[in-house]
Amino acid sequence: MSVREHDLGEIRDAVTKLCATFPMQYWRELDRERRYPTEFVRALTDAGWLSCLIPEEYGGPGLGLTAACAILEEVQRSGANGAACHAQMYIMGTLLRHGSDAQKKKYLPEIASGKLRLQAFGVTEPSAGTDTSSIRTSAVKKGDRYVVNGQKVWTSRAEHSDLMLLLARTAPREQAAKKTEGLSVFIVDMKQALGKGLTIRPIRTMINHATTEVFFDNLEVPSENLIGEEGKGFRYILDGMNAERILIGAECVGDARWFIAKASAYANERKVFDRPIGQNQGIQFPIARAYMASEAAALMVERAAALYERGEPCGKEANMAKQLAAEASWQAGDMCLQTHGGFGFAEEYDVERKFRETRLYQIAPISTNLVLSYIAEHVLGLPRSF
Ligand SMILES: Cc1cc2nc3c(=O)[nH]c(=O)nc-3n(C[C@H](O)[C@H](O)[C@H](O)COP(=O)(O)OP(=O)(O)OC[C@H]3O[C@@H](n4cnc5c(N)ncnc54)[C@H](O)[C@@H]3O)c2cc1C
Repeated sequence: MSVREHDLGEIRDAVTKLCATFPMQYWRELDRERRYPTEFVRALTDAGWLSCLIPEEYGGPGLGLTAACAILEEVQRSGANGAACHAQMYIMGTLLRHGSDAQKKKYLPEIASGKLRLQAFGVTEPSAGTDTSSIRTSAVKKGDRYVVNGQKVWTSRAEHSDLMLLLARTAPREQAAKKTEGLSVFIVDMKQALGKGLTIRPIRTMINHATTEVFFDNLEVPSENLIGEEGKGFRYILDGMNAERILIGAECVGDARWFIAKASAYANERKVFDRPIGQNQGIQFPIARAYMASEAAALMVERAAALYERGEPCGKEANMAKQLAAEASWQAGDMCLQTHGGFGFAEEYDVERKFRETRLYQIAPISTNLVLSYIAEHVLGLPRSF
């Protein structure tokens, strides 16, 4: 179901109200202690926002990606950080589109009710990096189970999720006709697997992101947890990746809007040389530029989400939306810090925290170079570089 304009407005208002119950002090303390926003994620779950894409037959409201974008954008625009839980929205899509009836009936209603969390996505590996097809984590079929060995890195929220969507090799790369074949997707019940072949080790980073390294040592995963056909996993996660890029684009638009509002307010109130700093065009113009960049990016996010919702090809638009929005939020973050002068560095203004947080989207879930190379080679037909 796609949402009508006035419904979108109601969704935005409700999310903004919910976020207002978690003051900036809450996020500052979490950031200082690198603590997971359990209370915030619980509140978003209880209000039903994290299950917005789950169809009604499985207990969700069955909204479209445009609504999901509005939710995440408002979370970021409020100064909060949706990275603690945004993944459930796009991971769930792989299960919904490619899972069996039995898998959907088993997991989706419990995810919709908030009983289960599916928010860990195990794709990146230390030696493969951006080249996903060269991942080495293997899943070997033995009777009615797969035995998984290997390692993932940057598996965010693994300690705060019940389930993980795992991409592993079920056939060696050399034996596959195409390098993207021979990869399969599994649902891993992490609570059951912990200590029985699954080890999670947190990575401390420059932002509060609950990211981890995950090790598999002869972890047994029941065959019934294979999603779709063996060997076709890369294709299954690809369309989820378009949703991911569009949603992250929406978050970046939210970040940009937060930075622009924060900078405008400060530029109006801060007086130096007996006048507001915002009276200087040297302060005004970067704010105006950041505003234009973010509004343009918002249009691309909207367009990509509309195509996705209609089931039309949207790889080009999803990549452009993510890139333009990530650039706009970084531009706005830099401008906001500069507008605040030295106070931009003070924790109590929240600018430095958001500045660090929005920087991630130049790297994850896909780095800027890889988007540029996709546009150059796959859209514009330039020669392949790798
Ligand atoms: C905080 C955080 C959370 C994350 N969460 C998750 C998660 O939940 N699940 C998950 O699976 N992954 C996650 N990631 C991983 C993320 O998707 C990767 O870090 C990202 O895709 C880049 O891969 P890499 O770090 O291995 O960089 P590399 O592939 O090592 O690349 C390093 C640099 O070289 C550039 N580069 C590489 N190849 C080329 C080329 N051919 N042409 C031009 N430039 C190139 C890249 O753009 C990058 O700038 C997360 C990462 C971070 C930092």
